[in-house]
Amino acid sequence: MKRLYRNGQIASEDSSALTRADVLVDGDRIIAVASNIASADDIEVIDCTGRILLPALFDVHVHAREPGREDKETIQTCSEAAINGGITGLVLQPNTTPTIDTAGLVRTVLEIGKAKSRIAIHTTGAITKGRKGEELAAIGAMKKAGAVMLTDNGDPVSNPQLLRIAMEYAKDFDLPIASHCEVKELSASGCMHEGSVSYSLGLPGIPACSEEICLERDIRLAQFTGAHVHIQHVSTAIGMRAIQRAKADGVKVTCEVTPHHLLFNHEDIGSYDTHYKMSPPLRTAQDNAELLQGLIDGVFDVIATDHAPHTEFEKKNDFASAPFGITGLDTALPSLFDAFISKGIFGWDLLVKRYSAEPRRLIKLEPVPIRDGGIAEFIVFNPDRTTTFTREFMKSKSINTPFLNKEVRGMVERVIYLGEELLAR
Ligand SMILES: [Zn+2]
Repeated sequence: MKRLYRNGQIASEDSSALTRADVLVDGDRIIAVASNIASADDIEVIDCTGRILLPALFDVHVHAREPGREDKETIQTCSEAAINGGITGLVLQPNTTPTIDTAGLVRTVLEIGKAKSRIAIHTTGAITKGRKGEELAAIGAMKKAGAVMLTDNGDPVSNPQLLRIAMEYAKDFDLPIASHCEVKELSASGCMHEGSVSYSLGLPGIPACSEEICLERDIRLAQFTGAHVHIQHVSTAIGMRAIQRAKADGVKVTCEVTPHHLLFNHEDIGSYDTHYKMSPPLRTAQDNAELLQGLIDGVFDVIATDHAPHTEFEKKNDFASAPFGITGLDTALPSLFDAFISKGIFGWDLLVKRYSAEPRRLIKLEPVPIRDGGIAEFIVFNPDRTTTFTREFMKSKSINTPFLNKEVRGMVERVIYLGEELLAR
């Protein structure tokens, strides 16, 4: 049966204007995008009046916790959380137990993805064995098994000589090195941004320069080796400007920003709320404003959530002991719509470019624009409904998010993946 999505507003990365059109889907393909497509007996019609149709999102920074911590999340539950948020492709991070640092583990994760997930699961491989920063992992074998990026995410590669060699291999194998930037000695036992709020709460701080120094080093090594470095979860304006300068100098550097580093800052921690504890930490309101401007100006290549589920038990610890990280897949799109798109701060074109097209390009996939002959992989978003992020609404196994029980404008109503409706509400 064909499906006709009638009278929606189509978003694309190329144009700030939305185009009103009907979209006809047959099998896994879009077979027509036009105004007033005629209906027929073998066509199911879905009224999309007032809705936005946009290419499905893609997240390059996700912790699925499988293998090892299936009490927090599994590849299956995390892919259902993604679908709930309009995301149809994920790149998993390797800091699982055991670490994803061999071809065998890369294959295992991809096989679990094929068996348990309704969307596309990709994985990174670790740069060093066990992410210990001592010995290189089998980079060539992991690439052959399907790893799309290399990273020790959760930790930096502290030894610059080891990272240099990793970059030389990564360049030969045409894989990006994704950097979690942090100087461990500077972060030490810090649990939040070092500044006025950490002083008044009496908590040990993580100075901004911990991230910035490592970021500058990794960019310099990328420049030296000619490798592609992808800077993960940039949280400071100074770090962002360093990337901007390096890009202008022709260094092969890309970077990502998370929704939480745009939306929240250290003042939100209030009375030690562990739902605002993440690594890198929430910085200042000034950083929020500059990162947002950087996203608008095109400094950031991609938006990525750094979806990091933890159990309620763990997050109920005191602030200093609770683990770093919050979930993001269920909440990213409605929260970004509510805070920015609905207020005209940026348009749908930016969101499609930075959270759908560019993330796919980063791992050498084709984007999925809504066009005649294209793959049917899109979302129907209703800007006039609201979403309340209750436990029942969220599909992630964990609920460690500042959005818990909060209401925002907008709702992901339908998710179409390879022509199939994975979600309809
Ligand atoms: Zn992460």
